[in-house]
Amino acid sequence: MKYKSVLAGALSCLLITATAPSSANAYGFIGPKWPDSTLDYKWGSNLQTPGSVIRDGFVSALQDWNNSPTTISYTYRETSKNTLNSYYVVDSNHYGNTAYTVSDTEVTILDFTCYINSGNPNITKANVTRSVGNHELGHSFGLDHFETGTRVMNSKRDRTQIYVPQQDDINGANALY
Ligand SMILES: [Zn+2]
Repeated sequence: MKYKSVLAGALSCLLITATAPSSANAYGFIGPKWPDSTLDYKWGSNLQTPGSVIRDGFVSALQDWNNSPTTISYTYRETSKNTLNSYYVVDSNHYGNTAYTVSDTEVTILDFTCYINSGNPNITKANVTRSVGNHELGHSFGLDHFETGTRVMNSKRDRTQIYVPQQDDINGANALY
């Protein structure tokens, strides 16, 4: 198995300016994806208790993707290989990351862990955890960053304003599954 992380991508939120693509498709893929879009998750060690800002953000994001016009579906399962969790780094530029295990051929995602940074002072602002949750869940099924425009996968978006999957994010999900 190989390990892949978009931590570096998350860290580079404010540092990289993507080259405008020639494609009309305003989304990107990490490469590997799931065999299908029916996914499950469990809560990580830091999110065992309902009602925290970060867990609530993930809950909203799970509902947003489940209710979106895509086939993406997340269901809680206690024994899931996939985990939603938080971490703590005091850094106002560092919102989250998603780590994967992928198949040897790098075609298939075998499991994911999505993290939201509880040490980011912006994380308690309205809609920010929901926005980060939707972004990290986008990574969990194979979307990559797309660094321009009104997209939840744009890591330079205003997270207080763009916090649910947008049309290009939905188009990306529907192109994958
Ligand atoms: Zn990201």
